[in-house]
Amino acid sequence: MKLSSAILQQKKAFRDGINRSAKVRKEHLNKLKTVVLENEKKLCDAINQDLGKPYADAYVTEIYTVLQEIDFHLKHLDSWIKPENAGNIMATFPSKSQIYKQPFGTVLIISPWNYPVHLALMPVIGAISSGNTVALKLSEHSPNTSSLIGELLRREFDEKLISVFEGGVETVQELLKEPFDKIFFTGSTQVGKIVMKAAAEQLIPVTLELGGKSPAIVYKDSNADVAARRIWWGKTMNAGQTCVAPDYVLIHESLADDFVEESRKALQLFFRDHLQPGENYPQIINDKHFGRLVKLIENSEIIFGGTSTPETRCIEPTLIRAGWDDEIMQDEIFGPLLPMITFTDEDSFIEKLQDRPSPLALYLFTDDADFQNSIIEQVPFGGGCINDTMVHLGNPNLPFGGVGKSGMGAYHGKYSFDTFSREQSILKKPFWPDPDLRYPPYDETKITWFKRLFS
Ligand code: NAD
Repeated sequence: MKLSSAILQQKKAFRDGINRSAKVRKEHLNKLKTVVLENEKKLCDAINQDLGKPYADAYVTEIYTVLQEIDFHLKHLDSWIKPENAGNIMATFPSKSQIYKQPFGTVLIISPWNYPVHLALMPVIGAISSGNTVALKLSEHSPNTSSLIGELLRREFDEKLISVFEGGVETVQELLKEPFDKIFFTGSTQVGKIVMKAAAEQLIPVTLELGGKSPAIVYKDSNADVAARRIWWGKTMNAGQTCVAPDYVLIHESLADDFVEESRKALQLFFRDHLQPGENYPQIINDKHFGRLVKLIENSEIIFGGTSTPETRCIEPTLIRAGWDDEIMQDEIFGPLLPMITFTDEDSFIEKLQDRPSPLALYLFTDDADFQNSIIEQVPFGGGCINDTMVHLGNPNLPFGGVGKSGMGAYHGKYSFDTFSREQSILKKPFWPDPDLRYPPYDETKITWFKRLFS
């Protein structure tokens, strides 16, 4: 079927109520849950083929998170869907004001390759829960997972409810010409701009989940060993190919030597000198990204690590001594390389962080409440953790999204429901009373009464 007719059919199906009532939305969510549960092993195998992700990683970060999100929506959907009572003012008395949460219609979801199940299905859950029909564009760079998701969704769902596209850039370009009612994009800042520009042509609202260089700041009172373990846990998960991975570490000079030592120990504990993509450590997604990372290593001052194996696209976790102007400090790394910059005076980097593009995440290692507050208040970033990395996005009660160059809008849990809904204000009035005061002609007496009653 031609693309345009497929999208128009989805728009018609939306109007016909294919996903309108809470009951059908829950049926669709339950079906999605069954599809994921029944194909959990196949999905993890496909992720392993694309990214070499070990089963435990794939299960926890992709399958479990999706199942947890579905359960959260199933549990709360009935209360989220209810119109929200809003306050009233004297001028509209007597009346009742309410905010209805309406689905947008047919939404386009564009997903990346790095968590190919999680980043495709998490927004789909929100879109279905909010009552939309969905066109889902999967990434061409994770072909095994994308083709399996495509096969499963096509088999289990009416394509008028969920249509799936697996092509490359041209497919996105074609999709962006269609009259969608909302676009939800996850990917790079660069492509985010292309998507937003195309959406502007048709005044389509967008949510952009982008990337950036997320710092981990280790203050002078930190515990260097816990900080090293938690930072390397975030950095090595998916071999650093995570949008919220700690990109670089800013560390108080007094802790730098300890951090290097504790980092060696942490990595020894995690991998025992044996990095095997597919078994205990993921591979880099493709030769292009592998080559980019190898070049960054070659142009850096290595503290430890730095080896790479082209045959398996494996890159060793690598600690790098860096300065703000180094090549590795310019763009998001998206790999297991950790530049380390030392500081003695925190004021010296706060301004630098303010001047740089706002990151998706920031991690702060300190128990000093004043320092915590000064960073949270002064540095814009999407979200983050105190004394940990990445775990904030596992809590569906927290909105997940960026700011500035790392994105706009947020999702997860209730925030997904809201992201895929528009707010519709309704003021309900009875027929009686209907005083003359509100109607023209307006004379002095009416104005006097108006002022007396409503000022
Ligand atoms: P990408 O921007 O290259 O690709 C994302 C999607 O856009 C793909 O479906 C691709 O087909 C399409 N695309 C690529 N080039 C295009 C073009 N010129 N015109 C139209 N469409 C195009 O991103 P990626 O490499 O798949 O993922 C990595 C990036 O995504 C990183 O920057 C990472 O930080 C970011 N990311 C963000 C989040 C988040 O939740 N904020 C999550 C994961 C990844």
